[in-house]
Amino acid sequence: MIVNENMVKQLLEELGDRVLVAATKYVDVEQIEELERIGVTHFGENRVQALLEKYDNYHGKGSFEFIGTLQKNKVKYIIDKVSLIHSIDSLGLLQEVDKQAKKHNLIMPVLIQVNIAKEETKHGFSVLEMDDIFLQLDKFTNIEVRGLMMMAPNIDPVEAESYFEATQQLLVQLNDKFNMEMTELSMGMSNDYREAMKHGATRIRIGRALFTD
Ligand SMILES: *Cc1c(COP(=O)(O)O)cnc(C)c1O
Repeated sequence: MIVNENMVKQLLEELGDRVLVAATKYVDVEQIEELERIGVTHFGENRVQALLEKYDNYHGKGSFEFIGTLQKNKVKYIIDKVSLIHSIDSLGLLQEVDKQAKKHNLIMPVLIQVNIAKEETKHGFSVLEMDDIFLQLDKFTNIEVRGLMMMAPNIDPVEAESYFEATQQLLVQLNDKFNMEMTELSMGMSNDYREAMKHGATRIRIGRALFTD
């Protein structure tokens, strides 16, 4: 895989002030540094081991974000190496992130993953479970919840639009109900980022579209 420079530049322009989180699971540090040269500053990894290897070999000024399913027992390895965890999908994980953040004397920014389309194969809380989680946030002193993350079903992007819209509405409702000021909506990937942008996406996780074989 090589970086498609023209495509990356075009995407950065199209995204405007939204953040492009380059999903870099397909590439090595060389391509990450190449992306950075073109103007990408946020890199999303979905596996702990790969993140650690890339983190060690990376010499740039960008930051890594964790976007994949995270096991509790691995939080300790990444807590001081990522600037945002997108994928909080259980109360236990939230507890562990808080505990490790405390140990490192830092406040960890996170997003709560919502399984908005209620897919069995996807992680995240259901809409109904949200209240329960948000009611407990006061307990966590070293976590800052910045917003929501979702993955749309793998269907025609136009049909997925209703899920982006529902996630945007959910953020508004939660802010209202819990008197919060969350601003982040992590949604949209290579195939559906335009639809996600229409409904308030602020961080767009794009992988495949940045590279060519
Ligand atoms: C790989 C990945 C993406 C990007 O998907 P593409 O289809 O390659 O754009 C987004 N989010 C997560 C969690 C991923 O693992």
